Parts: sequence; structure tokens; C-alpha cells
Amino acid sequence: MQYARHFVSRRNFLTRIAAAPTLAVAAAPMVARAEDVDAAAARARAALKAPKGTKLVLLGTGSGPVPGLARRMASNLMVHNGAAYVVDCGLGVTDQYARTGIPFSALRSIFITHHHPDHNVEYGPLLMIGWTSGMRQSVRAYGPPPLMQMTVDYFRSAKPTIDFWAEDFRIPPLQTIEVHEIRDSGPVMQDDIVKVTSVLVQHPPVKPALGYRFDFPDRSIAFSGDTVALEAVAQIAKGADVLVHEAMDFPAIEVFVRQQIAAGAAVV
Ligand SMILES: [Zn+2]
Repeated sequence: MQYARHFVSRRNFLTRIAAAPTLAVAAAPMVARAEDVDAAAARARAALKAPKGTKLVLLGTGSGPVPGLARRMASNLMVHNGAAYVVDCGLGVTDQYARTGIPFSALRSIFITHHHPDHNVEYGPLLMIGWTSGMRQSVRAYGPPPLMQMTVDYFRSAKPTIDFWAEDFRIPPLQTIEVHEIRDSGPVMQDDIVKVTSVLVQHPPVKPALGYRFDFPDRSIAFSGDTVALEAVAQIAKGADVLVHEAMDFPAIEVFVRQQIAAGAAVV
């Protein structure tokens, strides 16, 4: 994938492509093969079986509102000494988490970078399915406002379902989890395993949009979230072992948009 070296909004980009529908482009591979995905999951499970030190698994690296792709929407998992931390909850996060073999009881905290659906649409369902699969109710969530209200609203809408399953499975009902809204750059949380810091990034019109840095005892991992190239991200990633950065594959996006236009989709 290529890094976006200068700012082009998705909307502007899509509009430009729509305005030049006759330009021929080479097809780019948009869909990972299912067998490759299965092989990657098997490798992740093997690596996570008796992990030494911190492990990072990219559960989903796809973006945009496109269901049905083998490469799921944005989500990441970090594991250290039996504790699991999730960054972003795009469509597929729950299945992908399960496929790593890490138990849901290990899940400690969830971090949302910003409120585009491909980063948060499965936040509530992850909690719901996690709850029936052994997740502890002490899970905490961190992310930009209105994460608090979104969480309360989700639990309200899911209450009948939660009550049915609590009765069916004879387990305590899932309660609203502890939520911390992050509005700015700075310290986010620290537990006995990891220290987390946020950075404000630029992803208009979504405000605030965040990146995060996780400092584990043995390594540091930074996430840009969705952003233009930004000095603040370089700063928060300074000295980190890994930076997970947004990238845009322009040729692949162009192919996809042309296919949508050919199929009669409206582009605004
Ligand atoms: Zn986004």
C-alpha cells in the first residue's frame, strides 16, 4: 500500500473519480483470498499459543463501508501476559478476535480512534458476544465523545436481548461498561501492564479523531488512526517498535469506485 503523502479527502477523491469515468485503470486486487486469510489466522493462533512478550495482531486492515471482503474493517489486538487490548471495532472484530484463540476473558480495554462506522460499528456487538463467551464485565472503553452516550444507547437498545440470553444461559446480565471519553492529546490510562497516550489527528470532518501509543514493558506500539500525514503522529511514534499507520491504495480505490459507478451507484 502507498502512504497518502498529501491530503486528499475521501469525498473529494471519489468526486474526482466520478467526474472522469472514462479513464482506464488497471485492476488492483481488492479481495484477499479466503485460504490466505485462514492461513494468516492459523499463524496468529500458533504465535499466540505461548507468547513471549507483547504480541500485536492486525485483526482488520480494510476500510470503508464495504461488507463481504475477506480483509475485515479496522481492528487490532494487542496481548501481553494474558491481558488483551483492542483498538477499533470495525465490522468483523468479534470473529477475528475469536479466531486468534485468545479467550474473551482476557479482554481488558477497548480503544476507539474515531467514530466512522468502519472503526466502531461492531463495538456493541463485541461486548454482547464477548459477554456470552466469558468476557469480564470490568472491560473498559476509551474513545472520543459521544462514546458514553453511544454505549448507553446501545445497552438500552440491546436490553431485551441481553435479558433473554441472561435467562437462556443463566448468566448475570451484561451491565453498561465503564467508559472514558478522550477529547485531546495526552495520558489516557495506565494499568499494571500498559501505559496509553492519545494524540489528536486530522481526519476531517470527524472531530476529534485520535491516534494512540501503547507502552508495554517490552515494546511500544503506536496507531495513527485515520489521518493525514502529521508531525504529531511522528512524535507519538518516536522510539516505538511498531507504528500502525493508515494508508490509502489509490489505484484500488479508483477501481472500486469505477465498479460502483458502472453498477449504477450514485457518488456524491
Ligand atoms: Zn475514518
